[in-house]
Amino acid sequence: MNPSCLFCKIAAGQAQANIVYQDELVTAFRDIHPVAPTHVLIVPNKHIQSVNQAELDDEHILGHLFTTARKIAEIDGISNGGYRAIVNTGVDGGQTVFHLHMHVIGGQRMQHPMG
Ligand code: AMP
Ligand code: ZN
Repeated sequence: MNPSCLFCKIAAGQAQANIVYQDELVTAFRDIHPVAPTHVLIVPNKHIQSVNQAELDDEHILGHLFTTARKIAEIDGISNGGYRAIVNTGVDGGQTVFHLHMHVIGGQRMQHPMG
């Protein structure tokens, strides 16, 4: 845990969040500035700064982000309609919180193009 990291604190229960799901590897909570009816962030409980710092040993955690996205979609009833899973990386990728996270966004039709 990085004591100066907001998402580490949320995963450890030391900062408030609307938690949707948690297990030994990940914590999922609702984004405070939702861009769609469903906007959930899934974070590894372990501090990984971004995809740039992801190691081979982390692959079970990174894979778990996707199966948790599926679970979140089921919880919010958006599996059939579809949804978007996004991982912003670095400043040009739009990352503002430097603890790796997956956005799960849905409940409305997504717009194209991205970027
Ligand atoms: P990113 O721009 O990909 O780094 O996404 C960071 C996201 O974290 C943004 O969508 C913010 O709205 C969200 N966020 C920041 N602080 C909190 C918080 N305390 N609880 C929930 N979501 C947050
Ligand atoms: Zn962290």
